[in-house]
Amino acid sequence: MNWLRLVIPMAVMAATLAILPGCMTAPGSTKATVWERKLGAVAETPISPNQAHKELNLKVDLIPKGRYGRRIFRGMQPRFITIHSTQNPTGDAYAHAKALNRGALRGGVVGYLCWHFTVQEDTVIQHIPTDERGEHADFDGPGNRYSIGIEMCEHQGNDQVKTMDRTAKLAATLMYYHKIPIENIRAHYHWPREGYETPNKNCPHFLLEGGRPGTTWRWFVGRINRHHERLVAYDEYLFEKQEQEEQERRAREMVGSPYLHRFTLIGSLA
Ligand SMILES: [Zn+2]
Repeated sequence: MNWLRLVIPMAVMAATLAILPGCMTAPGSTKATVWERKLGAVAETPISPNQAHKELNLKVDLIPKGRYGRRIFRGMQPRFITIHSTQNPTGDAYAHAKALNRGALRGGVVGYLCWHFTVQEDTVIQHIPTDERGEHADFDGPGNRYSIGIEMCEHQGNDQVKTMDRTAKLAATLMYYHKIPIENIRAHYHWPREGYETPNKNCPHFLLEGGRPGTTWRWFVGRINRHHERLVAYDEYLFEKQEQEEQERRAREMVGSPYLHRFTLIGSLA
């Protein structure tokens, strides 16, 4: 029966289409679904590291060398990236930079708290170089000894969703420059603080469920991964372009080579 041949594939296609939108728009949690919809999907087009860096709108305002959080020089080879949120409803990124630069935040092993970057909706501020250790996670634990610390702002009027995406772009760029794998993106939660009643801090709280990483955290890491893939894709694009140019150069050389002339000559004689 000919009509059956047409009807069955159409029915299969309709059923697939009915299922697909559900799969594609449900990253697994209500919060993440709303945020993903607001931000839109991460573009798949390659992006150069320079362009990605420019889009961060990074301002470097380092804690004075030799003072406060940098009072003792402690070099670091970053292997992880730790994500925090400030839990401060009034301070923006500039206020945190100011506080760090005058030693107003006490704590940690050297007596002063410090971390590498603070992110708000439109800006990233850097406080210490990425090859120096911070005091933001777990005292003398691996979180402080090997990770770049990023704080996300929570002040009123700040767009939380844009802040998260800017943070994801920053983390992706740092992954790229320092060759940090995606599994080494950690919530502050992942670094237990020795001696605390609750060693695993509920931080960054709005990305955790019941104080623990779950679907919302996985959505955020997925977003970092997609931003990172754009940078990797740019390298692949450059490599392919170079290969193509090299092939074209060789082809031009061949045309101009005496061997080829001789070959053509022999060919023409035959
Ligand atoms: Zn934290």
